[in-house]
Amino acid sequence: MKQTVQDFFKRFPDDETCLVHLFENSYGQGHTCSKCQKPAKWYRIKAERAYSCQWCGHHLHPTVGTPFAKSRTSLQLWFFAIFLFTKSRNGVSAKELERQLGVTYKTAWRMGHEIRKHMANVDGDDPLGGSGKTVEVDEAFIGGRKPGAYGSIGKTVVLGMVEKGGDVMTEVVPNRRTKTMLTPIADNVLKGTEIHTDEFSAYDMLKDIGMDYTHKTVNHSKKEYVSREGVTTNTIEGFFMHLKRTIKGTHIWVSPQHLSKYTGEAEFMYNRRHRPESHLTDLLTVFPNQTSTA
Ligand SMILES: [Zn+2]
Repeated sequence: MKQTVQDFFKRFPDDETCLVHLFENSYGQGHTCSKCQKPAKWYRIKAERAYSCQWCGHHLHPTVGTPFAKSRTSLQLWFFAIFLFTKSRNGVSAKELERQLGVTYKTAWRMGHEIRKHMANVDGDDPLGGSGKTVEVDEAFIGGRKPGAYGSIGKTVVLGMVEKGGDVMTEVVPNRRTKTMLTPIADNVLKGTEIHTDEFSAYDMLKDIGMDYTHKTVNHSKKEYVSREGVTTNTIEGFFMHLKRTIKGTHIWVSPQHLSKYTGEAEFMYNRRHRPESHLTDLLTVFPNQTSTA
């Protein structure tokens, strides 16, 4: 799939093309009907976003299991909104979507959140590290500053883990207590990994939680950013810096209960940083919630 606005509208000139794309992508002619169990020719039902089985008349809705399923907004606008997300380095605000799509602010806000959830979903949660691999771990206070609040008030703790040369993963956590911090690490970083952190005390227990981790630290209080041994958390800090800039610059403030959608979006973009051409393709062809029985 090519990438300019012109290419986009050539590929998806109207709603019908978008629906056909969803149908062909996940089902296609000859798809076995979930009701009569026969390979079928599927007829387009013009009045709905649906197809009908040649044998038993069963309806197939290609939007089921996609972010567009319950929306009355046109598929082409949805696809274009996704296109805008893949084109933007710093995210897309609801205001921006409202302006570009000509929908209400409320619709724009909801679309943005659905697209972020979809990005997180497509990104998935493959574990990091393993024997011979290094993972940097750090935490950050994120969420921008609510007007009138100071310091970390109104912000949320996000734990970040990034494999050297590999993927990033984040988890929104309620506080910085040792158990709260170590549980998501044990859940997402494989046994035998070498883990690099700063000297924050919650990480001291990393070697004692039965995961055969090697734990090395970099001493930030001594202004050390790469230790003589090569221990550093610069990569994960860079990821957090970009995330903070995005939230502050594009969204101003993000409430704690929605923060994981923004981190999911950031993970999707970071983990595909070397293949930008795959952003749009993946988001329009991978639908993890879709079942073949739709
Ligand atoms: Zn059938």
